[in-house]
Amino acid sequence: MTIQYRDDLDTILYTEDDITRRVAELGAQISADYDGKEIVLVGVLNGAVIFLSDLMRAITVPVAMDLVAISSYGSYSSTSGVVRIMKDLDQSVESKHVLIVEDIVDTGLTLNYLVEYMRSRNPASVKVAAMLSKPSRHKVKAQVEYLGFTVPDAFVVGYGLDYAQRYRNLTCIAVLKPEIYAGPDTPPNL
Ligand code: 5GP
Repeated sequence: MTIQYRDDLDTILYTEDDITRRVAELGAQISADYDGKEIVLVGVLNGAVIFLSDLMRAITVPVAMDLVAISSYGSYSSTSGVVRIMKDLDQSVESKHVLIVEDIVDTGLTLNYLVEYMRSRNPASVKVAAMLSKPSRHKVKAQVEYLGFTVPDAFVVGYGLDYAQRYRNLTCIAVLKPEIYAGPDTPPNL
């Protein structure tokens, strides 16, 4: 199968088949854990949308869906942990079971902020599903109950994750070649 953007990529870390299989496993595990309950999936825009839409269909208990958008201050290499909510929840999550759906946990600062933010809304419970985690970059202990895969300390794209808004439609998860973002046009936010 042709892989989109192949020339821009280093290692392919996880293929489309790997991802499909893992998402099905996570869906089964979540469905068993929440048996008899209803979940509010809170997707974090924009990176988590593809994971969210696949995961949702792998879950067999009733789900509602909401979306939040956040903006972090600082660059990829020096995340400040200061996060601003750009789009808030549309519905109240009071007394509901919230499952935050995140794309990747890097330093863990964004996720920590989001978990605290959701807890402040008095839900029945708050858990986290993250597609990817980079353990070697964690600065704080991140709460992740359902994890897709771990990745090394490298900038990865695909399956919703972008670089400068590209590569989100890549069906695998891959390391982006450093020369793509290390050139003279590197945006200041990387
Ligand atoms: P944290 O607060 O955990 O450092 O930052 C998490 C956010 O940084 C993610 O939601 C994602 O938007 C971005 N991020 C961290 N690592 C990567 C990466 O390797 N690739 C991409 N595309 N985004 C990343």
